[in-house]
Amino acid sequence: MQDFEKTLDAFIWEDFKSLMSNPLLFNSYVDYFLILVDWIKKNKAGLEYSVYWNRLSPILDVDIYDYISKEPEILLDLESKRMFNLKPDTVDSFVMRLGDTLWDLVKLRSGKDCPRCKDDELNYVVAEVLKTAEKKLILECDTCGRTLNSDGTEWSDGVAIIHPANESIVNKYLGVN
Ligand SMILES: [Zn+2]
Repeated sequence: MQDFEKTLDAFIWEDFKSLMSNPLLFNSYVDYFLILVDWIKKNKAGLEYSVYWNRLSPILDVDIYDYISKEPEILLDLESKRMFNLKPDTVDSFVMRLGDTLWDLVKLRSGKDCPRCKDDELNYVVAEVLKTAEKKLILECDTCGRTLNSDGTEWSDGVAIIHPANESIVNKYLGVN
């Protein structure tokens, strides 16, 4: 293991697992999202230096009632096992697991397949380009990470913060009323 892959402390993991005693945790996707986000914000200091933090942090401040996905892949019945059973070895793998989970709860399917993964659908996201601060609606594959412009051409505007999109944002960018 390399130096930068910091081991996840047992006490953080135990604290995270204590969320399972909250009867609302798996009550609904919205509840699950709110409880996870609340815990992540409280434990930010132990997580934010991960290389995957930039992927997770833009989701923490969305209004979940405007962003909740209609098609999450995770099943709440199976989350105690998938999310809470096995301690991730490193802070990075933990932050990645949290980020993937939150993204699954806000993702907006585009109806278009990823040209590389074929059967995998692309999601709408908003890319905020760091250099220019310009925001743009793009398509992203959550399997391979490929990014395309909304017209299907390759997107390559450089380093960007990726924010979730919802239907009203997509309509605004695509000029639909
Ligand atoms: Zn793909």
